[in-house]
Amino acid sequence: MGLVMSEDDLGLTAEQQARKKQLELYSTLIGVAVAVVVSGVGWLLIREAYPYLRYFYFMGVGLGSFFLAYVASHWLMAASARCDQCSALYSVSMTDKQERYLSSTPRHREVEAGRSISGPNEGKRLIRKISWTETRYEVSKTYVCTSCGDTRVQRSTRTSKENEHSDDVYRR
Ligand SMILES: [Zn+2]
Repeated sequence: MGLVMSEDDLGLTAEQQARKKQLELYSTLIGVAVAVVVSGVGWLLIREAYPYLRYFYFMGVGLGSFFLAYVASHWLMAASARCDQCSALYSVSMTDKQERYLSSTPRHREVEAGRSISGPNEGKRLIRKISWTETRYEVSKTYVCTSCGDTRVQRSTRTSKENEHSDDVYRR
C-alpha cells in the first residue's frame, strides 16, 4: 500500500496529477469489478452453510479484494506511466494508435462432424468445410512523456479471422 499512499502530489505538474487521477479512477473501477465478482461468487458458495458469517464475509472479502485489485492495478499502470528516460511519474501516455494492413491469406480446414445414419446420404461422413481470411495488421502505438517529450513507438502485429463461413458436405 506504500506504493499508492506514499506518493504525494507535491512536485507533480498539472498534467501528471491529471494522469494520476485518471489511473486512480481506472483502478477504482477495476477494484469494484473484482470485488463484485469475488464476493458474489463467495456469497453463492457460503450463503447456505453459514447464515451469519456471510454478512461478515461479504464485507471482509469485498473490501479486501477491492483493496488488493486497486493496489495491484494501480501499481501496474503507474509503472507503465513512469518515463524510462527521465523517471517522471504519471507522465507517459499513449497519444496515437494506428493500424496498417499487412496481408490477407485465404485459409481453410475440414472437420469431420459426424456420419449420416439414414436417408439418401446413409453411411456417408458429414464434412464441415470451414474457410476464412487471415488478415494481419501492424499496430503502432505511440507513447509520449509529458515531462521530457521522449517519444516511443511500440509495434506489434494483430491477426484477425475475417469472412469466416462453413459448408457441410456428405462424402464417402
Ligand atoms: Zn520523460
